[in-house]
Amino acid sequence: MSVTHPDSLGKIVQKYFAVITKVPFDFNGTTVKPRPLLISTGLARGYTCPPNCGACCPKFSLDYLPDEAHPPGVTERLIEFNDRKVKVYTDFQSKNSTRHCRHVSSVDARCAIHPIRPLSCDFELIRCYLGLKQPWGRISVAPFGRAWALTKAVGNEKGTLCEILPPSDKSIQDTIRKLRRLEAWATHFGLAETWLPEIIQFLEATKGAKGNITLVP
Ligand code: SF4
Repeated sequence: MSVTHPDSLGKIVQKYFAVITKVPFDFNGTTVKPRPLLISTGLARGYTCPPNCGACCPKFSLDYLPDEAHPPGVTERLIEFNDRKVKVYTDFQSKNSTRHCRHVSSVDARCAIHPIRPLSCDFELIRCYLGLKQPWGRISVAPFGRAWALTKAVGNEKGTLCEILPPSDKSIQDTIRKLRRLEAWATHFGLAETWLPEIIQFLEATKGAKGNITLVP
């Protein structure tokens, strides 16, 4: 199984924050510069999450804001961000010797902490792309690009079972809920200027029906 971000904070900051920011920020010795953002019409779509999969639940860090409900087993850590130390609570799952998250069921691959799952789990299947060749970011709801490389939590087969669904009021409201949770993360990190208001407005006003739009700083 490939785990691109065993520390999920890297995914949140280097992908999610990097795509939504309107201002530069410093993280891990690197300055991330804002890019134009293409909001895909696909951001309005929904998806299925069938049982007996759990392929997107490998062992990675489970991270929470101080005021987010969290399961037992998290400890405080400080993240360097823009020369500040930002407090988060993390379960690194260091005592978990399996390849999958300690909260995924080995019977039906359901998440035992679904109502309080961390942002990095909750945010799927919103995908934040930062192309190497294209100088812009893109946000959409889309299948896993390397689904074939993921291993199910039940049966150990490769691949995922989720399917993309057409846009609906339910899918749009759920995506807005996730974007507002990301906004709380950005605010906690002091990242005040983001595209999130425009992304939410795009979803509320057009429901994705008028095609992609590009936002330029
Ligand atoms: S917390 Fe839940 S959703 Fe997240 S990886 Fe673990 S089992 Fe999967």
